[in-house]
Order: sequence, then structure tokens, then C-alpha cells
Amino acid sequence: MNASDHERARDLVLLRGIEGISAGDAKWLDSHLVECFECAAFAEELQLTTNALRSMPVTASSSLVGTTQARVRQHAADLRDREVRLFLIGISFCLGLLWSAGSMFIGWRLSAWLAERLHIAPWAIAAGVVIFWLAPAVAVAIAVLPRYPMSYHSRADWLARIEENLQ
Ligand SMILES: [Zn+2]
Repeated sequence: MNASDHERARDLVLLRGIEGISAGDAKWLDSHLVECFECAAFAEELQLTTNALRSMPVTASSSLVGTTQARVRQHAADLRDREVRLFLIGISFCLGLLWSAGSMFIGWRLSAWLAERLHIAPWAIAAGVVIFWLAPAVAVAIAVLPRYPMSYHSRADWLARIEENLQ
């Protein structure tokens, strides 16, 4: 036996576990392992390691599952926050548009009437129209903004409901 015999034996031991070896190689390897204690020990160790790896369950730990679920829930809550906020912004935009159109029409008629009847300076009428025009939009914004992001209470309720569905 020379050094290359041991090297060949160990290569064959590794190959046998991965892709298999020919019958001739297997016969040669078996006879070498019977005679060579070191290579037999190597093959034995490799076998034990392989068995240990195969018996290890590849499952996620409960803490990993819990963390992942919490992240998914958080993400869902964030998405819902954003959806609700976009919806409210859309509503306030439409309200603002309606109010602008309506107040512009009324303001135009009113200012003409006032200028004619009361002889008020045009700049004063213009200032009044601007204030009337902006006031409702500001009021809507003030009414809507404090409600979002969702209050802690409603958000907690919502998360609890999702949790029930996940279980
Ligand atoms: Zn050997």
C-alpha cells in the first residue's frame, strides 16, 4: 500500500456518499478498508457525520415563527394605515374641490352684488372670498388629520383580529 492508495480510498469513500461508485471501485475500496485502519476510521467518521446531519430536523424554531408572524402583521397594519390615509386624502381632496367650485361661484355672485350695493372696495371682497375659500379646507384637514395614524386602541384591536385569523 502506498500513499496514493489511501488517497484513492478516501476519494472513493467521499464519492460513494455523493454519487456512488462503480462495482470495481467498491470492491477495491472494501478490500482496502479491511486492511487499512486509518481509511476505515475515516469512512466510519464520515458515515456517523452524515447520519447525524440527516437526523437533524430542519424546522423553524418557534421564536423564528413568532418573529416572522409579528413582522407580517406589522407590515399588514402599515399597509392598512397607508390605504386608509390615502382614502381620506382622496375624500378631502374631493370635498375641497367641490367646496372650491361652489364657493367660487357663490363668491363671484356675492362680490358683484356687494360691490354694487355697499360700495365696498374690491380688495376687501377678494380677501373675504379667499378666507371663505380656504377656511373649509383647513377645517377638513384639522378634523381628519388627528385620527390618523390609527389610534393605538383601534390598531391593537385590528392586530388581535388578524392574530385570530392566523391561528
Ligand atoms: Zn488507507
